[in-house]
Amino acid sequence: MELNVDILIVGSGVAGLYCALNLDKKLNVLLISKGELSENNTYLAQGGIATARNVEDIPFYIEDTLKAGQYENDRKAVECLAEESIDNINKLVELQVPFDSNGDELSYTKEGAHCNNRIVHVKDKTGQYLWESLMNHVKKLDNVKLMEYTCLVDLIVKGNTCYGGILRKGDEQINLYAKSVVLATGGIGGIFRDSTNQRILTGDSLAFAFKYHIEVMNLEYIQFHPTGLYDNNYYGKRFLISEAVRGEGGKLLNQKGERFVDELLPRDVVTKAIREEISKSNIPYVFLDISFLPREFIIGRFPMIYEKCAQIGIDITKDPMLVIPSQHYHMGGIKVDIDSKTSMKQLYAVGETSCTGIHGKNRLASNSLLEGLVFSKRCAQSINQNYKDIELVTIPITVDKIDIRYFQHENKQLLKKEIQRRSPDLHDELFDNR
Ligand SMILES: Cc1cc2nc3c(=O)[nH]c(=O)nc-3n(C[C@H](O)[C@H](O)[C@H](O)COP(=O)(O)OP(=O)(O)OC[C@H]3O[C@@H](n4cnc5c(N)ncnc54)[C@H](O)[C@@H]3O)c2cc1C
Repeated sequence: MELNVDILIVGSGVAGLYCALNLDKKLNVLLISKGELSENNTYLAQGGIATARNVEDIPFYIEDTLKAGQYENDRKAVECLAEESIDNINKLVELQVPFDSNGDELSYTKEGAHCNNRIVHVKDKTGQYLWESLMNHVKKLDNVKLMEYTCLVDLIVKGNTCYGGILRKGDEQINLYAKSVVLATGGIGGIFRDSTNQRILTGDSLAFAFKYHIEVMNLEYIQFHPTGLYDNNYYGKRFLISEAVRGEGGKLLNQKGERFVDELLPRDVVTKAIREEISKSNIPYVFLDISFLPREFIIGRFPMIYEKCAQIGIDITKDPMLVIPSQHYHMGGIKVDIDSKTSMKQLYAVGETSCTGIHGKNRLASNSLLEGLVFSKRCAQSINQNYKDIELVTIPITVDKIDIRYFQHENKQLLKKEIQRRSPDLHDELFDNR
């Protein structure tokens, strides 16, 4: 089957949806998602979205981002992020994202390594509320068609130009031609044994990048979170136990019930200490205890964590949680410029699958949702300026049916190999080797 559209957007998270909202309404757009539309990391985000508080805060926000990234960031991209943050948050308010507020003013909270209170949030479910607001608006657009359970299994490429993609939806395979393709396929957690990410996120765009020699950057910069909830599934999506639990005094304990690390040290240090403790013991997790705090406080402060643990039979007001370090975020990805253009013509990448260079070696807390907003809008603006000069080309191609399971398996192996080549300390047992 063959189809033509103006723009193909691959991914229904913050980056894909916000790009669609900012495209010229004359463009005929198809937006696809691999699983259900809401099965993405955006929906899982808890803490919030970082933003400069005001013009005076911009240089401080830039400095915090550079410092967290160990000055390996792309300075121009960081400046874009900070300078365009306020307008984009105002746009979200216009789109009725129900941010927590104090009267007329948004409520700004503080997170690790920010020198100022500058995180806007909706309770501890920012991602869900953000996604629902964006999706409500996208659904109202006549020019955007949504297709879920539709997987991009290849790009249509000639020379160094992208002319569309090959999609699998159930048994059907579609050659989809487009003037531009926007990759918004999110993170890579699905290739790891333990990850806070949705399992379907397996870095598919990176596989296309390897295949077609599209430039990638910082692939080895991967953030692990020390405390994913262990729930007896050996492989799995780990529910994130927020740093705030340790911030409120939560203690990490080993099999003997002893503390083994200062819980408030940086994420990578705590992660290493937990891994060492696990390797010394005969259980695949350590304990995180806050049961010594008053019951009402725990339930009021951590309602989602309380509820989630109760579902697996743990009452955190009485017993410790079982936790395991889990892959959380990918700083690297497909290299893009500040208009989200990749090294291939007519191909853009936005959100977590892209590497704008804003994170450098390490992401500053709550900078990824903002990156998804700022750079997907810039991507849409670039498309709006250029599409009139691009002709839709339908190169005749015949491709055998691509088996999705095989495609997934091969992608995971390829990406694992590339990551390990760049970062040999990421051992085999951290990956999903099934
Ligand atoms: C538990 C958790 C908490 C977080 N909390 C925060 C936070 O508080 N603040 C913050 O800034 N960041 C947070 N993050 C990070 C942030 O949520 C993500 O980086 C961001 O949402 C990524 O958005 P995205 O649009 O790039 O990708 P996603 O939202 O993950 O969307 C990816 C989309 O791509 C689709 N897709 C993938 N492959 C294919 C394919 N081959 N074919 C078709 N479709 C495909 C998927 O179906 C999905 O729709 C958190 C992440 C996690 C996991």
